[in-house]
Amino acid sequence: MKCTEVNRLLNPYIDGELDLQNVLAVEAHLQECPRCNAAIAGIQTMRTAISRACEPAKAPLRLREAVQAQFAGTAAPRQATSLSLGVCLAAAPGIAALLIVGWLALAQPWNAQSNAGTAQGTRIVYHLAGGNHVKANLRTLKNHLDAEPNLQVVVVAHSDGINFLLQGAKDTEGQPYIGALRELRARGVEFRVCTNTLTRQQIDTRAVVPEAVLVPSGIAEISRLQKREGYTYLRL
Ligand SMILES: [Zn+2]
Repeated sequence: MKCTEVNRLLNPYIDGELDLQNVLAVEAHLQECPRCNAAIAGIQTMRTAISRACEPAKAPLRLREAVQAQFAGTAAPRQATSLSLGVCLAAAPGIAALLIVGWLALAQPWNAQSNAGTAQGTRIVYHLAGGNHVKANLRTLKNHLDAEPNLQVVVVAHSDGINFLLQGAKDTEGQPYIGALRELRARGVEFRVCTNTLTRQQIDTRAVVPEAVLVPSGIAEISRLQKREGYTYLRL
C-alpha cells in the first residue's frame, strides 16, 4: 500500500471503521513508514486538541434555568453528542447560544427520564485483559444484564483476555465458551478483539470466533468508546 492510500485511510483506521484487510495493510505500512506514523500522530494530536476545546463548561445558573424552561415538558433532543460536537467544530460567535443549548443537552440533562432508563440504556465498556477468571466474568456480565436489561455492553479484550474468543476455547472444566458467548451476543453484548494482540501473539485472525469483531487496538477502542460514545468503563 502506498503512502497516499494509507493517508486516505488513517481517519477511518483510527475510528475503527476499516475492514480487516485494510486494517492489516495499514498496520503493515505503519510499521515501516515514519512519514505515515508522523501523519497519524498529527491527526491524533489535532483530535485531542479539538475535543479539549469542545469540553463542556458550566453555564451560569440563570441561563441554565432559562434554557430548561424552554424545554420544559418536551423530551431532550436526541443525538445531543453529535449536535454539540458539530456545533463546536463550526463554532462562530453568532451561534454561541446554540452551542450552549447543545452542550446543555449533553452535560446537564434536566429531565431524568432522558438521561437513563430509556430505550437507549446505559452504555458500559468492559475491559478484559486477563484470562484467569473468564467464566466468572461472563457470569458477572449476565447478572449485570439481568439487573439492567436495557444495558448496552461492549467487551473489549486484549492480551490474555482474548483467549476465550478464539475458536474452540474451553474453560478450566473443559466446557466450551461458545454457548455462553452466543447467549450474550443474543442479548446484544458485543465482543471486540485487539488486532495488535493477535499480531503480537502471532495468532491468525481467522482463529477468532465470528461472534467477535476485530478492532485495531483494544486500548484505543476503549478510549474511543468512552470519549466519543459516552460509554462508562468497567474493568473485568
Ligand atoms: Zn507511508
